[in-house]
Amino acid sequence: MANPNLTPLEDALDHLLSEAPVVTQIETVALANSLGRVLAENHYVPADVPPADNSAVDGYAVRKQDLHGDQPIPVSARIPAGEAPKPLEPGTAARIFTGSEIPEGADSVVMQERIEVTDGGILVQAQVDEGQNIRRRGQDLTRGDLALAKGTQVRPNEMGLLASMGAAQVAVLARLKVAILSTGDELVDPGTPLGPGQIYNSNRFTLIGLLSEAGCEVVLCETLRDKREATRETLLRAAESADLIITSGGVSVGEEDHVRAVLEESGSLSLWKMAIKPGKPVAFGAIGGTPVLGLPGNPGSVLVTFLMVGMPYIRKRQGRNPKALSGERIPADFAISSASVRREFVRARKEPRGSEPVVAAYPNQSSGMLSSTCWADGLAVVPENTTVSPGDLLTYYSFAELLS
Ligand code: AMP
Ligand code: MG
Repeated sequence: MANPNLTPLEDALDHLLSEAPVVTQIETVALANSLGRVLAENHYVPADVPPADNSAVDGYAVRKQDLHGDQPIPVSARIPAGEAPKPLEPGTAARIFTGSEIPEGADSVVMQERIEVTDGGILVQAQVDEGQNIRRRGQDLTRGDLALAKGTQVRPNEMGLLASMGAAQVAVLARLKVAILSTGDELVDPGTPLGPGQIYNSNRFTLIGLLSEAGCEVVLCETLRDKREATRETLLRAAESADLIITSGGVSVGEEDHVRAVLEESGSLSLWKMAIKPGKPVAFGAIGGTPVLGLPGNPGSVLVTFLMVGMPYIRKRQGRNPKALSGERIPADFAISSASVRREFVRARKEPRGSEPVVAAYPNQSSGMLSSTCWADGLAVVPENTTVSPGDLLTYYSFAELLS
């Protein structure tokens, strides 16, 4: 049964996505520097790729009708890749290499493994189908077609495709500038010895990594002490340079939770007790005109809420095309005997079990534990009010899919 005090993930996302201003500033970058950037315009194919019919193998270009059983045919030309060939002399073959252009008049290429070299020329020892081993002009990309749509995030794959079309520079949207503010008097940066009561600030680094992978620019990264005025001052300063502020911790309802209080006093705030586990509470608001996403403090919750709540929002703000998660349905290799009213995101990994995969859960799912996130390669979803027995089908999302 739904708990009226808990906000379902979908409702929180609807709210976030309805208030997600998209980056509009456009920059031009060298293709070599385009990884992770978002295309600012559609890319239509300027010219056929490949530009001409060419050979898929090393061998001999022939005209099928010139081949007569056990009669050799003379080799009249040699066509290295990168040279424009002359038309094929009728009744002859041309030595050809992978990627070499097909000479006019030839209609097939015979692999070199399928011929015998004789005094009278080459003897083709195989059945030849017209058109075999020829890569047709435009078979990869046809002039005028849409090759890549605006809003595509550039992966190595897209870099290669853009290069194959001759693009040396690409117009991309500016990176989303994000400020990371970790809150807590107990936090110390790695590199400093721990004093009594202190712990290392891990969320800062988890978030730097997540945002970098998502293609964002981290413009400011500070630790906020649990002080009201210092929190206000830093949030306002971050708002000047960032398109988005992500905080961790300080959004519960304790008296030391100053992020919540400052947003209420000096900006705006929607605070949700989210119906997800780990993960409540999550805050969303603004200060100085800059949106603020307030994640919980527990390190495990930070990862889950960033992936499930932050990523769809960031993806939209980056100007990327919307993407529905597909996930995989995989049998569970674990049991959960007590049902929760919250949807649970179990730090899990896909493992082979015989011929079928199963999804295994890290034994300790405490939201304070980061070891689980390194053991895992994704999240398995346990629906609300549901128990799990081994063999039950669960939806599993890999971290790679969640971050892409
Ligand atoms: P809070 O929401 O501020 O009450 O924090 C919840 C829990 O997460 C506490 O145990 C904090 O010590 C811990 N925590 C908060 N921020 C961080 C951080 N940046 N790195 C590691 N642990 C944190
Ligand atoms: Mg705190």
